[in-house]
Amino acid sequence: MSSQSSDVSRQTSDSTGAYLNRYDVKASMDALANGSLKDVPVAIKDIIVVANDYPSTAASKILEPFKSPYDATVIKKLSEAGAVITGKTNLDEFAMGSSTENSALGKTVNPWDESRVPGGSSGGSAAAVASGDAPLALGTDTGGSVRQPAAFCGVVGFKPTYGRVSRYGLVAMASSLDQAGMFGRKVEDVATLLQAVAGPDQEHDATSVDQPIPDFRKALTGDVKGLKVGLPKEYFIDGIQSEVEKAVRTAADELKAAGAEVTEVSLPHTKYSIAIYYIIMPAESSSNLARYDGIRYGLSVPDATSLLDTYLETREQGFGDEVKRRIMLGTYVLSAGYYDAYYKKAEAVRSVIRQEFDEVFKNVDVLLTPTTPTTAFKIGEKTDDPLRMYLNDIFTVPANLAGLPAISVPAGFDKQGLPIGLQLMGKQWDEETVLRTAHAYESKHDWHAKSPGDSK
Ligand code: GLN
Repeated sequence: MSSQSSDVSRQTSDSTGAYLNRYDVKASMDALANGSLKDVPVAIKDIIVVANDYPSTAASKILEPFKSPYDATVIKKLSEAGAVITGKTNLDEFAMGSSTENSALGKTVNPWDESRVPGGSSGGSAAAVASGDAPLALGTDTGGSVRQPAAFCGVVGFKPTYGRVSRYGLVAMASSLDQAGMFGRKVEDVATLLQAVAGPDQEHDATSVDQPIPDFRKALTGDVKGLKVGLPKEYFIDGIQSEVEKAVRTAADELKAAGAEVTEVSLPHTKYSIAIYYIIMPAESSSNLARYDGIRYGLSVPDATSLLDTYLETREQGFGDEVKRRIMLGTYVLSAGYYDAYYKKAEAVRSVIRQEFDEVFKNVDVLLTPTTPTTAFKIGEKTDDPLRMYLNDIFTVPANLAGLPAISVPAGFDKQGLPIGLQLMGKQWDEETVLRTAHAYESKHDWHAKSPGDSK
């Protein structure tokens, strides 16, 4: 798919469904290898707004036809770093999903096996990087939407600490969980992308934080001697694919051989993560999505006879089923009489989960887990069973609830040739240790150099 030519005309990618401009592979790869984004193409999940050139759809009919009058802060920063915005990528509508099947624009397939999903919700960005359509991509991660598709597509996916990167210009899903994330083939490339977009943006996003910004590439020393790695026992549960578990345990052994200390730790409240995520996320989403009323953005049904009808008909026609399901769930858990029982309780459990991470991180520097319980599943396999779909995020959601940095790195392939991902989670603001560990592990393997279609 990626071409040697520097032709910048728009191309349609057959495997990802994304519209991506071709780019000069050699020049951009040289720049990237030196830690520069000068002329490096970056594909953008279509939930991040880019002024004028591209419509911003969030993969929803309700935003049709919407063009943003402004650039998201991450886009502005990329442009300042010299990067080229090469196209918009497909996603689950409003980032709600784990398979990129919930898109009003059609499905995206997994470049490793086109009968399978690429993961979601940033499936288009992950597939674009895996198939070579773009060396880098941005996504968003509210409950795992960067790390889970990275694992399914055999690329690196990183979610920084909540507050590290401005959310201005990210179409809001659940504001206390949303964070921009990045994809690349290698940890080093992801560090370069993070460097460009990190930093406070108080004027536009009050939750962005003015923390010192380290040189993330410098953190990639390859040295893990004395590093304390925790294996949380709750992440090795029944139902996890044996090859995935084996890959993570082997990684633990390899880190140990390189001088790290590996211990088992416990995060007992992790088991409530999915349950409380599916209260907090819909609550915030239902409130954020109230703005799509047929008046202010995109779609407005032409034949409504009253203002109320405009609201109702536009939302009925504009939103897909999964989005409607979450709006209903969210409205329910926030309604009088249920607020205390559901929303408030979920927030209390969220605090306990955060405290548990704080405790564990007194004794370890980084946590090692699978990214997903299984490798990529078949298209259509889980579409009729939302609960099974939701369980895909069981290992990724806790980092969002606690606001922690977390990465998925390629960890080999299963018997069917599908990529496996492992996850590393770190302390708040300690992206450096997460990246350092991921890079040290990555450098012992050549999985990142493999592409779909290579002979196995
Ligand atoms: N798959 C999760 C969900 O559907 C996560 C989504 C995300 O991170 N945007 O909510």
